[in-house]
Amino acid sequence: MNSQDDCIFCKIVRGEIPAKKVFEDDDVLAFLDIKPVAPIHVLVIPKKHIASLAQVDETDAPLLGKMLALVPTLARAQGADDGFRVIVNAGRIGQQEVPHLHIHIVGGHHPLGPMLAR
Ligand code: AMP
Ligand code: ZN
Repeated sequence: MNSQDDCIFCKIVRGEIPAKKVFEDDDVLAFLDIKPVAPIHVLVIPKKHIASLAQVDETDAPLLGKMLALVPTLARAQGADDGFRVIVNAGRIGQQEVPHLHIHIVGGHHPLGPMLAR
């Protein structure tokens, strides 16, 4: 068994777990977060298993660029017409809970709150 077999986001990619998908192509999937922290909360993931942003290198640049370039369109489609925030938690210090790379897009109310509690 490898890490993809029981990875929750790989299961969503394979259709083994339901998700409210908002975008899909050959490389990227976006779906609504199951426990939203704001009225708008979308996750953007690569379809291939990458554990974390802490594990990418230059060869991943086209895929990462594609994911980030999709963000404004996905945010606007959810109604974020006056900005949004993008968060990528990585590893233990980043308190990443799901070990499959994902971009959070959050928004939908103002003020969204501080980036981090001081
Ligand atoms: P992170 O702490 O950055 O790893 O965030 C993981 C995110 O995945 C959290 O916001 C969870 O609410 C979300 N999440 C976990 N399981 C699911 C699922 N089955 N469908 C949608 N979102 C999920
Ligand atoms: Zn995975």
